[in-house]
Amino acid sequence: MAPIKVTKICCIGAGYVGGPTCAVIALKCPHIKVTIVDLNQARVDAWNSPDFQLPIYEPGLDEVVRAARGRNLFFSTDVDKGIEEADLIFVSVNTPTKKSGVGAGFAADLNYVELATRRIATVANSSKIVVEKSTVPCRTAESMRTILEANSKPNCRFDILSNPEFLAEGTAIADLFKPDRVLIGSLQTQEGLDACAALAGVYGNWVPKDRILTVGLWSSELSKLAANAMLAQRISSINALSAICEATGANIDEVAHAVGYDSRIGPKFLKASVGFGGSCFQKDILNLVYLSESLHLPEVANYWRQVVDMNEYQKRRFSKRVVDTLFNTITGKRIAVLGFAFKADTGDTRESAAITLIKDFQSERAFVNIYDPQVPHDQIWADLAEASPLTPIDTIKKQVTICSSAMEACKNAEAVVIATEWKEFNEINWEEVYAHMNKPAFVFDGRLLVDEKKLTKIGFTVNTIGRPAQE
Ligand code: NAD
Repeated sequence: MAPIKVTKICCIGAGYVGGPTCAVIALKCPHIKVTIVDLNQARVDAWNSPDFQLPIYEPGLDEVVRAARGRNLFFSTDVDKGIEEADLIFVSVNTPTKKSGVGAGFAADLNYVELATRRIATVANSSKIVVEKSTVPCRTAESMRTILEANSKPNCRFDILSNPEFLAEGTAIADLFKPDRVLIGSLQTQEGLDACAALAGVYGNWVPKDRILTVGLWSSELSKLAANAMLAQRISSINALSAICEATGANIDEVAHAVGYDSRIGPKFLKASVGFGGSCFQKDILNLVYLSESLHLPEVANYWRQVVDMNEYQKRRFSKRVVDTLFNTITGKRIAVLGFAFKADTGDTRESAAITLIKDFQSERAFVNIYDPQVPHDQIWADLAEASPLTPIDTIKKQVTICSSAMEACKNAEAVVIATEWKEFNEINWEEVYAHMNKPAFVFDGRLLVDEKKLTKIGFTVNTIGRPAQE
């Protein structure tokens, strides 16, 4: 049989993954028409905005979209048309953790995946390769196949692939240009392998062959959960050690450096912090916990749950350190929180540690000034409202101020809390900040970002994750 040639791609979901991933495919494959569809009109409008005010901030994304949009890259709310004309469809919709219902708190909410799959089955008039791009529990592809086959028209066949995305927000474009690996899972039937070859052919336009890994469907699905769980586990491990450092006088940077020198361990992803955030790590581990429980493997479930529990502990430990250091009360005191995104170089705030810290400070009746260089103010208000659903937004606004610069946030504050590792926080004029703060002035560095010696010399009392407090 002749190899399947992909000429039209549709991506369902124009979010942090679908948008950048398929924009890069369009850039690298000018012969393929790529249409990214989404039900969210505002998001699609932003992708199409004449002045490229894109809905997500990601270094380098703007240039990619400028080069391909209107040429072979299109954004639309017409999901049906996108499905109908494509020969390969990515399903890149959100897969949050269920917040209510049976199995709530752990299970992945696959409602969006199911609705998108049903739409494909209903609309498709020709055979399609359907690619699971969303992160899903192991064997979700089987459910998708059942739904597609039960609802398909005669002469339509669907081949399902798993192609999880490993990009990291903040470096998404660099990751997509030069991925560590592209993983494609398929059924090991002739049809499955042909579909796999077709998708590998798309990536082969810019990804070296030896970086395109082809495996079985279930291995591919599980590998994505496993990769995120192991990355998060590394962070929780170093954070657990940071608590010991603070209590003993060891320095977490030195410990990480020494440990990372072991070639079996390696130096990457060993930076202690106030805790991991983002939409994926916690969700994917909870997914693994749920999967383990449903497979009657409670010890395995407990093992992975500890990674999330450690992360929660780290955030709370940091909040407590702020309160303890400020003479055991922050009531009526002003705290400047620098950074609201879950990490630098993104405007994404999902599961950001900053939200937990601010909520803790609010519950201790402090005033909080927030500054983040990328997160829109509306987003911050929405996140704070969601974090405290029983508190009216007007009450929140009495306690919280969103500022337009770091300097403004620090004025008349007792303490500065660094919650996100934005580079610009290192370039602040700290002498000027000190001059405008109440004394004694404290800095709590939750990201190992600032030069502790320099700040101490200026007059600050500096508290850094993983180091004992400076006297
Ligand atoms: P997102 O919420 O930013 O985007 C998902 C989009 O899908 C939304 O815009 C939503 O409106 C749209 N959508 C939902 N149902 C739809 C439907 N039936 N038809 C059309 N559009 C629909 O989510 P994201 O961050 O892009 O994540 C997508 C998936 O990729 C998730 O499973 C996530 O776990 C996974 N993932 C995310 C990252 C990351 O860094 N964000 C990295 C790797 C994998």
